[in-house]
Amino acid sequence: MAYRWLGRLAYGSRYDRVPWGQRVYVRPGERLIREAQWQRLIRRAPVMTLEEYRRLRALGEIEEFLSCMMCGESRQQPLFEPTGGTGKGWRYHVVRCPSCGFLYRNPNVRPERLGDLYASGYSNFLSGKYAANRQRRYDLTMKAFSPVFDEGKERRLLDFGSGVGLFLELAERRGFDAYGVDLSPESVEQANQRLSRARTYFGAPEDVPEIAAGGFDVITLWSVLAHLPRPLEDFRKFRSLLAPGGVLLILTVNAQSLLLKAYGPKWSGFTKNHLMFYSSKTVPTLLARTGFAGVAFAPHYGDTIEAGTTALHPDLSKRLRRNVDRSDGGNMMRVLAFADEEAIGRWGGGPLTVHRLHA
Ligand SMILES: [Zn+2]
Repeated sequence: MAYRWLGRLAYGSRYDRVPWGQRVYVRPGERLIREAQWQRLIRRAPVMTLEEYRRLRALGEIEEFLSCMMCGESRQQPLFEPTGGTGKGWRYHVVRCPSCGFLYRNPNVRPERLGDLYASGYSNFLSGKYAANRQRRYDLTMKAFSPVFDEGKERRLLDFGSGVGLFLELAERRGFDAYGVDLSPESVEQANQRLSRARTYFGAPEDVPEIAAGGFDVITLWSVLAHLPRPLEDFRKFRSLLAPGGVLLILTVNAQSLLLKAYGPKWSGFTKNHLMFYSSKTVPTLLARTGFAGVAFAPHYGDTIEAGTTALHPDLSKRLRRNVDRSDGGNMMRVLAFADEEAIGRWGGGPLTVHRLHA
């Protein structure tokens, strides 16, 4: 509340028409204020042992307590309690790892109960304008990593968590020999109606012989990473499914986002089914521990800015880009992981900066 009042005092009504998701990046000085706010929060939040933390929290039927999956640290720093708002009927606790800074839900969802979250009704809202916006987002991200996705001919692609097939549709159009897997049977059915050559399957990759055979040139995870309860196991599997020279693409919410620092528990990345929240600091740990050789990031300025459809004044647009570059890389994180040296050699050139990983 005080911040809103201070904002009014400092900026007047000049930025009232700028959407909330862009405001923190265009108001002068706000980036530094939010960063300072975040540092203060981290300093003040208590750090406790897992035992102490367990005593504070009730454990739901499908839940379990976790230590940090990235570094093994068991101590907990409770940070937020997001809720869906009145009437949404969900709330959970987000903790920070005091050693490596990883943010995760604790208690978390037990992997064997994950299916409960996606069993039915999950695919309904993925249509119409929503679908068109999704596909634009996929196109923009592929463009950010060009030329990796430009030509799919004679290349095998696996879309993990393929939903109703919106990405697979773009992939088959680009010539990829494309496959998908998903945990929602309804989505798989819808996807197979939509697609002509590409095919999706219900279940895990190892359940489908054509997919379990591996040899993929590309694996994609569109808004899937935050949903994985056992990311290390999954990524070891992805690594083994990649062919020499293969790459893996990740789009996920960015736990270093200035918007998280500004809005805390109300951040758009804290959605009902998200379990873990990665940043450019913790994703390299996950990749290094599961056998990947390199990683590159592409900043995300927002879909309307990148597509050129924003209503923002060009000067503010420029300022937003600058602040995204200086702070966090944007509200979404775009990651390209390289399986081996061959992959780095083939795709690592151009504007991409590849960071080599060491297990
Ligand atoms: Zn950690």
